[in-house]
Amino acid sequence: MTETTFTPRVFSGIQPSGNLHLGNYLGALKRFVDWQAKDVESIYCMVDLHAITVWQDPADLKKSTRELCAGFIAAGLDPEKSILINQSQVPEHAQLAWVFNCVARMGWMQRMTQWKDKAGKNAQNASLGLFAYPALMAADILVYHATHVPVGEDQKQHLELTRDIAIKFNHDYGVNFFPETEPVIEGAATRVMSLRDGSKKMSKSDPSDASRINLTDDADAIAKKIRKAKTDPEALPSEAKGLEERPEARNLVNIYAAMAEMSVDQVLAEVGGKQFSEFKPMLADLAVAKMSPITTEMARLMEHQDEIDKILARGSERARAITAPILSQTYDIIGMVRPVEV
Ligand code: ATP
Ligand code: MG
Repeated sequence: MTETTFTPRVFSGIQPSGNLHLGNYLGALKRFVDWQAKDVESIYCMVDLHAITVWQDPADLKKSTRELCAGFIAAGLDPEKSILINQSQVPEHAQLAWVFNCVARMGWMQRMTQWKDKAGKNAQNASLGLFAYPALMAADILVYHATHVPVGEDQKQHLELTRDIAIKFNHDYGVNFFPETEPVIEGAATRVMSLRDGSKKMSKSDPSDASRINLTDDADAIAKKIRKAKTDPEALPSEAKGLEERPEARNLVNIYAAMAEMSVDQVLAEVGGKQFSEFKPMLADLAVAKMSPITTEMARLMEHQDEIDKILARGSERARAITAPILSQTYDIIGMVRPVEV
């Protein structure tokens, strides 16, 4: 099937599991804003149904969902141009996910590294939802026939699975109905690492708050976390090759490059030879300059929760105009009797 059969449409989501961080911003949010400038129809989703794959305090979940919506807008998404939704208000996501649960194979899901990482040794006690999560993610994307999905590097495997589900569905039913979605993993910071451990990605769910820069951190907190970030004793190299065996150093340079919108080589041409004692304050200043306006705007928007709720309601209405017909056609394809007018 050729991609040209489908109108370009962008979908991506973030979990409202609290602690929105710099990795989410550079790997996802900032990319969404770049896509918005391209004038392609785009849907950005607070994936609350994904968040409950691990237990969430109900009051915190509501707050995090609204805060995430505030973060989307503060980062530059315009709710008139892009469609902003929370997943549970568009029921077709969960409905299509059930169909995909019946398309995806157990073996495919067992291979998912996120499942292995998150379930860990305690897999028997993990929720069935955590295991099935990638099928819901495939439904999130394919219920819009989305062609492009901007994400961080950690989601690459889930997007490959999304393609496998689309291909198997099309093959099993002899149709060309679902597109083979393209992952869009771009920029200098597709995988921002923990500030405490250069081998782990920065995550909302990391128990250490010092591991990440939250979008709600104030200037002092940002500067302190960067000052304390793990590094090595060497000076910065003048070329990217010199970062190969130095994950923590590489991470800080990548973050600088992504925020300054420079290449890693350009950054190193400027800071090569400097010690971290000199580079860290530069990075902190840049991070504060880029993050503070977003933090301030998020806090302002959170004072108007009724506005946020209206934006989400309006978004879901626009979204359902796309998802309802696609779900209905899916049901028809797989042999479900559709309601007639009575
Ligand atoms: P959790 O720990 O709860 O899984 P998370 O930090 O991984 O949270 P998600 O909501 O799962 O955040 O992911 C939202 C988006 O942010 C995805 O596109 C994901 O690829 C991207 N992302 C997450 N962490 C990073 C990171 N460290 N660097 C770059 N992008 C990231
Ligand atoms: Mg994640």
